[in-house]
Amino acid sequence: MQVGTGKIVVLGTGGTIAGKAAKAGDNIGYTAGQVSVGQLLEAIPGLAQAARGRIEAEQIAQIDSKDMDFAVWRQLAHRCTQLLADPDVRGVVVTHGTDTLEETAWFLDSVLDTAERPVVLACAMRPATAIAPDGPQNLLDAVAVAATPGARGVLAVVAGTIHTARDVQKVHPYRVDAFSSGDAGPLGWVEEGAVRLAHGWPAPSVPRLDALHHIANTYLWPRVEVLMNHVGADGRIVDLLVLDGVDGLVVAATGNGTLHHALAKALERAHESGVEVRVATRCPLGRVLPKPGDALPHSEGLSPVKARISLLLDLLARPRRP
Ligand code: ASP
Repeated sequence: MQVGTGKIVVLGTGGTIAGKAAKAGDNIGYTAGQVSVGQLLEAIPGLAQAARGRIEAEQIAQIDSKDMDFAVWRQLAHRCTQLLADPDVRGVVVTHGTDTLEETAWFLDSVLDTAERPVVLACAMRPATAIAPDGPQNLLDAVAVAATPGARGVLAVVAGTIHTARDVQKVHPYRVDAFSSGDAGPLGWVEEGAVRLAHGWPAPSVPRLDALHHIANTYLWPRVEVLMNHVGADGRIVDLLVLDGVDGLVVAATGNGTLHHALAKALERAHESGVEVRVATRCPLGRVLPKPGDALPHSEGLSPVKARISLLLDLLARPRRP
């Protein structure tokens, strides 16, 4: 069977899209991860048409994505790998909470081969019990994207907008249109089930099969923490984390990678002692532009949380410590 035919598989992980509140008008006092992914699909008219064929649901987890962990990532990566290798699968959709969606998107983009079939993340800012839930339309749109011929990469579809895993970022804690692709702009839009692309499908990324192999064979992930530069950042936290055996540190620096002199010294000490350090910026747009003579490596344009994932995968791919 050729790519472009076959079924869409929707993997459920929970989130607000599957959330329930005691009162229909309550958009914030709800519990995430209550409704099964099968029930979510049953409530959406026109789904088979959007899927251009068969659609199946599987529950991988049922959690609030603030609690997302390596065990669920491992399971998700494993199941997505199987599905993407199945010629009967046209694309995969993952329902997910909004809080850590960009992290799961970047993790999956880093480890999966999506050059021929997409993985599309769907989410919602209003629970399933809301007066006007946004989940059904977001899920319908995500299925439409997954079923679109030529779709590839790991993508997120929210409020009619398609984002790439690299650029997507949650930028608002409440409004329905809560995501942005920053300077890059959206990849495209979904309009009445049709995809309109601004930039063409993303270039296929090279999957970190080295890291994926270790993920499949270990429950021990490296420990990488994210710190921030701020007024009075004295670097003590770095020394404490190094004493505590941290493997890697990502710093959300100010501006173009600037650090309080005391924090800079502490990070350089950590780096010299063998702890991997990456410098990202806490600015929501743009990237750190490295300068000759910089003492610490930068995050290659990744946000602090995504730089953490790339560093985790770098460390996972290294030969095991005895
Ligand atoms: N805390 C929720 C979650 O990330 C928020 C949401 O999905 O909108 O699962």
